[in-house]
Amino acid sequence: MDRPSDCQTNGGLRGSQKRRGGVRNGLLATVCLSAVLAGCAGPAGPAAPGAAPARTEPARTDAAPAPKAAAAPGGPVEAADRGAARVPAAPPLLPGLARQEEEASSEAVARQETAVRTALETAQRWGLERPPLKALPRPATRARLTPVQGVKLADGRPPVVYRVPTDDKVVFLTVDDGAEKDPAFTRMAEELGIPFSAFVSDYLARENYGYFRDMHAQGVEINNHTINHRNLKVLDYETQRREICDQQDQLEQQIGVRPRLFRPPYGEYNDETLRAAASCGVQAVPLWNEEAFPDHMEWRYDDRQLHPGDIILTHFRGTDIWKATMPDLLRKVVNDVTAAGFTLGRLDDYL
Ligand SMILES: [Zn+2]
Repeated sequence: MDRPSDCQTNGGLRGSQKRRGGVRNGLLATVCLSAVLAGCAGPAGPAAPGAAPARTEPARTDAAPAPKAAAAPGGPVEAADRGAARVPAAPPLLPGLARQEEEASSEAVARQETAVRTALETAQRWGLERPPLKALPRPATRARLTPVQGVKLADGRPPVVYRVPTDDKVVFLTVDDGAEKDPAFTRMAEELGIPFSAFVSDYLARENYGYFRDMHAQGVEINNHTINHRNLKVLDYETQRREICDQQDQLEQQIGVRPRLFRPPYGEYNDETLRAAASCGVQAVPLWNEEAFPDHMEWRYDDRQLHPGDIILTHFRGTDIWKATMPDLLRKVVNDVTAAGFTLGRLDDYL
């Protein structure tokens, strides 16, 4: 065995080894077992066969040499020595089960190392400073909203949410309107595993709903941002209802799923807006705490930093308005979010 010292230093793994968890420890356990079978010196040597009799038993049938330290003094030692001379040098054949476990553990470690390398290469290909932090597991259920900071509740109305109540270091990217339809943006998000939610206005999307259907097929929720992107606050109830509810119908027809989330254009709304939205199935009205641009972030709070659960707004825009592309925008957002120690989550899983 090439690393018999691991037999005695299993508790002293470096951080990166510890993070590999059970797989790495399982491998070490198997490495140590095989080292013991091969005659690994040290306090674990003689005790190991007794500690795992079921696994050591097949070793004899596989013709592995008996541990020297376990042999009685006298003749048997000489016999073992003579036997050892006839057995090919290392590595000795492992018992079947142990060999399978070692191979499986090695494959798992190799797969993990490949995944890390691939993530790094993907991040570099898209110009990121480093790969995004690993996504958190989806919450089992959506949070029951209470009137905390960042959440406005009223009876019979969908909640208005600026910040999703959570202690997780997660923030949410939302992309509005639908003018720029850059396939590189969705490809970049997919390759990097970056979740986001779209809020689409019909007057911009109708020329090419296929772009948003493709986006939905890769797991992005396509939500409601009205038909004509008007300031709803200055409209009467019936007109607001047509702006909101006709887009519910349109998205259900075009995308195949009736939206749960609705965002009023410009963040402008009144009670009639919420009443109209509730009448056609809207479950929540997410607004935002930050607005992202390709070269900077605009903040609602003076501390100018991300908070757990913050919703970030940006837009489907391109070089005509920004002098930058959608991938430029996403690169800026992911770099900022990662540098602040946050991961991006899927708003629809939380709200
Ligand atoms: Zn908008």
